[in-house]
Amino acid sequence: MEFESYDVLVVGGGLAGLRAAIAAVEANPRVKVGLVSKVYPMRSHTVSAEGGAAAALRPEDSYENHAFDTIKGSDYLADQDVVEAFVREAPVELIQMEHWGCPWTRDPDGKISARPFGGMTTWRTCFAADKTGFHMLHTVFQTSLKYDQIHRHDEAFVTKLLIEDSRCVGVIALDQRSGRFDAITAKSVILATGGLGRVYAFTTNGNICTGDGMALAYRSGVGLKDMEMVQFHPTGLPFTGILITEAVRGEGGYLTNSEGERFLKRYVPNKMELGPRDIISRAMVTEFEEGRGFEGPHGKYMHLDVRHLGEEAIDRKLPFMRELGREFVGIDIVHEPIPVRPVQHYMMGGVDADISSATPIPGLYAAGECANVGLNGGNRLGSNSLSECLVFGAAAGRAAAHYASSAKPVTTNPVDAMLWDEARRVETAYLEKTGGDERIGTIREEMQRDMDSGAGVFRTKEGLEKLTDQLGGLRERFERIKIEDSSRTFNTDLTAALELDFMLEVSQTIVASALAREESRGAHARRDFPERNDEKFLKHTIAYKTDTRPRLEYRDVRITNFKPQARTY
Ligand SMILES: Cc1cc2nc3c(=O)[nH]c(=O)nc-3n(C[C@H](O)[C@H](O)[C@H](O)COP(=O)(O)OP(=O)(O)OC[C@H]3O[C@@H](n4cnc5c(N)ncnc54)[C@H](O)[C@@H]3O)c2cc1C
Repeated sequence: MEFESYDVLVVGGGLAGLRAAIAAVEANPRVKVGLVSKVYPMRSHTVSAEGGAAAALRPEDSYENHAFDTIKGSDYLADQDVVEAFVREAPVELIQMEHWGCPWTRDPDGKISARPFGGMTTWRTCFAADKTGFHMLHTVFQTSLKYDQIHRHDEAFVTKLLIEDSRCVGVIALDQRSGRFDAITAKSVILATGGLGRVYAFTTNGNICTGDGMALAYRSGVGLKDMEMVQFHPTGLPFTGILITEAVRGEGGYLTNSEGERFLKRYVPNKMELGPRDIISRAMVTEFEEGRGFEGPHGKYMHLDVRHLGEEAIDRKLPFMRELGREFVGIDIVHEPIPVRPVQHYMMGGVDADISSATPIPGLYAAGECANVGLNGGNRLGSNSLSECLVFGAAAGRAAAHYASSAKPVTTNPVDAMLWDEARRVETAYLEKTGGDERIGTIREEMQRDMDSGAGVFRTKEGLEKLTDQLGGLRERFERIKIEDSSRTFNTDLTAALELDFMLEVSQTIVASALAREESRGAHARRDFPERNDEKFLKHTIAYKTDTRPRLEYRDVRITNFKPQARTY
């Protein structure tokens, strides 16, 4: 049997995936690149990023400052050599975006504007109004179109990685239009599949952020690193979870409680609204618990107030926020405060990868939100992620192209058998199964609710143990799901089942890693272990798949120039 075959195969059409594809071709124009995405690339979650991308571009800034802010922001769980490489590459990447046509917002003198962002000591977040992700994704997507060497498989859903002789040689993907399973082989594969926010009920993440790439790598034997580190963003709209960008606070917005008080003075007095996300989210929950939140139909909330900025500034720098206020809350933010509460937003943890985005499996790379290259540690600073997608997406593309240039060709015999096995697995587990009595939506909602309550902003041993049992019960019930759609074309019932399977898998690693980390660091706040414990836990958690619960290993954090200190703002 003949398969579609590439030198480099990228899974994911978001910012990291497209940047990787371009970098592979730029590194070696003879490289043939495949790009698989379960949605049309412009629908990737990157499109919804609002606030901006960080880089030390202004003369008063320095690599050292950006590195220190990132490391302190990470609560010292970032690998410092990775951070140092990142801050040097980020400006190069943002200027490259400029050359490819990204319409950055500019200062009157024509230079790219920057705005302040949480946990950053200076203005270094470059932006395109408050639709930065849309413009950046458009820029790399358009750029990718000029390369004939990049061949896309849009709306193809990867269900399995092909591993042969301990090396990754491609993927198996469900072509959603035809319902056919295809093997797509390659000498090297890059995972750029984004985050997993949908394991929570209240999240800013799009429906497609279901942790697929993390689960695919995990099932192939790669560890998942620091999965307990889940970011909650302080300002989501109650009910929908739609993000109100940190840029609103960057531009001068205030957070106030039900007593009209800027309560952050008690938590981050020197930074106030520009404190890091983990600390502000905890401050808000603490205020709610002490009775100083507003009560609404969708739970407690705070006010985010921009009225003092004036209509002209709001329309120039935050036009999308005004639109969101009108469309989703029925208010005009020029005249009324915005109701907000903490919401799951980003996954610091991910596929264990190194500074060049290589995973421990030869031929397999990971970049962007699905990866953990060691940059974000316990808490990512806002606006570092878009830059991370560019820097490590490009690194992955170059490394994968280099690896492919000397790798052996892929033999088709075992691939044939693997394709057959995988197609049979999905058909028997889902499409041909009869007698199931559990609905996908019910299990998904229960999982999301349980994750919200057991693995949220604050955690406890009891809560996490209960969650472990709940997830175990949901996994058993998942075996009895019924697929109500038997068609082959765009069977979203089937892809929802595949995604739920991935989500149940990665949720388990979040909970197991959180239970074992008996300290509070970055976004991981244990009520029963409120202090950071560097002696025991200045280490990455790596979770490996077994037949039962995840097996955990620990790896030292790499420290270069920044000695861990108390983290106060
Ligand atoms: C609302 C919102 C606002 C944000 N704002 C900012 C910001 O202002 N600044 C900042 O730095 N960060 C921001 N972030 C975070 C940042 O946008 C993301 O971390 C980043 O865009 C992720 O990019 P990615 O390329 O890794 O993945 P994504 O853009 O999520 O793309 C993932 C790709 O993988 C594909 N895929 C997934 N699973 C499969 C599968 N099984 N088979 C085939 N393909 C698959 C998808 O089709 C998609 O193309 C924001 C995030 C959100 C949710």
